[in-house]
Amino acid sequence: MAGSLYERDLAVIAGIEKVRFFPLAVTGGSGSYLIDESGRKLLDLSATWGAASLGYGHPAVVEAATRAVANPAGASILSSINEPAVALAEELLAITPGPPAHTGGGERRVWLGHSGSDANDAVVRAIPLATGRPRILSFIGAYHGGISGSAAISGHSSHSHSLGHAGLVQIPYPDPYRPQMAGDIGESVLGYLDYLFATVCPPESVGAVFIEPIQSDGGLIVPPPGFLKSLQDRCRRHGILVVSDEVKVGLARPGMMHAFQAEDLTPDIVVFGKGLGGGLPLSAAIGPAEVMDVTTAFAIETTAGNAVSAEVGRAVLRTIREEDLPSQTAERGARLMEGLRQLANKYALIGDVRGRGLTIGTELVRDRETKEPAKAETAKLVYRAHELGLVLFYVGLNSNVLEMTPPLNLSDGEVDQALDILDQAFGDVVEGRVSDDVLTEFAGW
Ligand code: PMP
Repeated sequence: MAGSLYERDLAVIAGIEKVRFFPLAVTGGSGSYLIDESGRKLLDLSATWGAASLGYGHPAVVEAATRAVANPAGASILSSINEPAVALAEELLAITPGPPAHTGGGERRVWLGHSGSDANDAVVRAIPLATGRPRILSFIGAYHGGISGSAAISGHSSHSHSLGHAGLVQIPYPDPYRPQMAGDIGESVLGYLDYLFATVCPPESVGAVFIEPIQSDGGLIVPPPGFLKSLQDRCRRHGILVVSDEVKVGLARPGMMHAFQAEDLTPDIVVFGKGLGGGLPLSAAIGPAEVMDVTTAFAIETTAGNAVSAEVGRAVLRTIREEDLPSQTAERGARLMEGLRQLANKYALIGDVRGRGLTIGTELVRDRETKEPAKAETAKLVYRAHELGLVLFYVGLNSNVLEMTPPLNLSDGEVDQALDILDQAFGDVVEGRVSDDVLTEFAGW
């Protein structure tokens, strides 16, 4: 591979921005497929961690980007106004229900940025300023971003270098498959929160709770029914703002428009990223004017509200509506989940299959009784799948959960192709046909 794209990357791109599972060097993409440097076509079940929501090269994205870049309305909303950014904000408000009026649900504003990291960062910095409450509540295992403020309210193992937000209080994200506390896991976590509120963390000192409606990087955990609603009710009682981080699992991915709808939540603040940009850098946070207008010149970025990104975001929203992608993800997700459950009948390595729509996790264990995480097998599985033409990554605090967040417009045929490849890859891992070398070559996370 001397002089290959793979080798050149190794020589020049910083390791601190890599999470690599196998040698994937991409030269192009079309629909649900990536083309690698050898010209191979790979079915992408990750959609670049969910960012390529419409797949690669979708005509609506190509048209919007081409049109906007040819006659750009400036490059920013920092010190000027542009039509695509304002229209995108209007459209996001129209599709995102606000909190009920009795909670003070007044006017809302939209903040535009480039990534889930910067959107959560803007929000977490604005909340203490607007509310006068210094504490933030979030979950162990949460991933809200990789830059200072958003990393500091996260709790993923990749954040272990961060000392955390001053005033951060974290609780376990109740995991029905791997409960962290005795008794009903949802009730136990809420009981622990009540104990915190009664002791070291007076609720009136907490500005907001950050929620992932499915904890994705933490292990694609779907919370027990009713847990998040009870959490929201508790927070509302104490005037704590509820932030729903929809960056990975929202916007038509969960078989409906928003992941918080599956939990019957009415969040005060909603954060979008990844899929909103259809593969381009774009994020948004919607929240009460009291927070988002608290001051000016505070969460500013030179190219935020970029007209090209905003036009692409509008094209993504239009395509979600025109192609009824929430129904599509519900149907394709059911097919993929059913196929994975059949594979679980064949391979004891699969301990659990869970998710909503096209957000699916498959947890691998060495033993279904002890649930010992099958970390090495998971790394080998994604490596072997890549060799066989399928791209998927793994997540989880134990690095043992396969994550599937494919393009929202994945076809039935592509679902079946993915399942065929997975079947073969599981067989190869279980039969010991994948070398241990992959475990040292690719650190993953
Ligand atoms: N929120 C969630 C729920 C995420 O999964 C991620 C990324 N994994 C982020 C925020 C940060 O998004 P980005 O990496 O695009 O900044």
